[in-house]
Amino acid sequence: MSFDNLMLSEKLQNTLTSLGYNTPTPIQQQAIPILRQGKDLIATSQTGTGKTASFVLPMLENISETQEIKLGDQRYKIDALILVSTRELALQIHNNIEKYAKAFTHQSIALYGGVKLGGQVKQIRAGANIVVATTGRLLDHLRNGTVNLSAVQMVVIDEADKLLEMGFINDVRVIISQLPKKRQSSMFSATFPPAIKNLGKSLLSKPISISIDPDNMETQKVNQMVHHINEEQKAPLLSFLIRSKSWKQVLVFVNTKHQANALVVQLIQDGLTASAIHGDKSQKARNHALQQFKEKKISVLVATDVVARGIDITNLPHVINFELPLKNEDYIHRIGRTGRAKHQGEAISLICKKEIEQLKEIEIMINKTLPAITTESFNYTDTPPPMKEKKGVDLKKAKALAQKMMKKDEIGQSRSKIPKKGRGTQRHF
Ligand code: AMP
Repeated sequence: MSFDNLMLSEKLQNTLTSLGYNTPTPIQQQAIPILRQGKDLIATSQTGTGKTASFVLPMLENISETQEIKLGDQRYKIDALILVSTRELALQIHNNIEKYAKAFTHQSIALYGGVKLGGQVKQIRAGANIVVATTGRLLDHLRNGTVNLSAVQMVVIDEADKLLEMGFINDVRVIISQLPKKRQSSMFSATFPPAIKNLGKSLLSKPISISIDPDNMETQKVNQMVHHINEEQKAPLLSFLIRSKSWKQVLVFVNTKHQANALVVQLIQDGLTASAIHGDKSQKARNHALQQFKEKKISVLVATDVVARGIDITNLPHVINFELPLKNEDYIHRIGRTGRAKHQGEAISLICKKEIEQLKEIEIMINKTLPAITTESFNYTDTPPPMKEKKGVDLKKAKALAQKMMKKDEIGQSRSKIPKKGRGTQRHF
């Protein structure tokens, strides 16, 4: 199938060709015609499947064909709203919209917390057709009267299960109550627990359901492996793997912000370039770390599950589970950061004794036994090898830098800057 068959204009198809999109992904094949016809949609969708374009492309076309908001004279009104759970995802979707909307005049903006309201108000005042927002920040703007949802024609709830998990579902309900009755709505979620089904009932009208065959999931292209190792040897093994294999871009998942910070210190001490990304870092620091990583200015990004979903890093070759996630389903989201869009990826989970039972559960979940690998030249003794000063690495400097970063982390506690109102009960990643 080509994009020709999906009710998209020639100018949009030209943009897609220029981006190297020749064939629509399965979710795009199914979702685009439904949304182009103005119907409501409920989609079971995994990460990395081309989901963003599946709702953004019809959104761009539909806005063009209706009485769209005239920019600069709209009293904070917008045409379309996309609700997401994390700031990174808001920015990523916004960036994708800008890419896809090259042939249109539509303006998109991202509204998320951790930055001042003022700049965002200015942007909305200048005019926005599409708003991509995290729930808490959107509620702040609604309270301020700096966003008006009365003209919204289309609303998308992305990763609904993540919004539920992070405690934002009531915020979503408040936002839905502000939308006009006549609108097109769609909801995307990887799982459908009762709370999400109920949300769907209040959001959607006669929705069409689609589900992407797991055989088509991008995670099939991820070469998954496990590496059994003592807990205290995980960090030395990680440094060894990165160095000996000359990996240039590795995303490492841990479960807590403390672990993330500690591991970054260790990696820097081992002479690698690394940064951490987690919920307690200021938004500026999070964006900076992600950007540095995307541009390959640092080779290791240590992350908590705050970035396990949705985030797209082009051609990311390696994901490491330094520890298995707190929730088994996050395993799929984590490894889905690699092997995206036709590229092969590799995901290695470092498994210590206490994680073996959980590994079995994950293997049952993904219906696959993961092959175990060993690293021949690694020193598998019980005690971590003493830290050696590497040629070209100033250990003193590395330690000072690591300590500075830890300090910065403590100062950069962005959570306190987010207005309390509108914040759900969040998990502390
Ligand atoms: P998403 O699931 O929306 O985050 O998309 C995952 C990746 O797939 C992104 O890098 C997109 O640019 C890419 N992508 C989306 N649709 C297509 C397509 N039809 N052909 C090639 N790449 C695509």
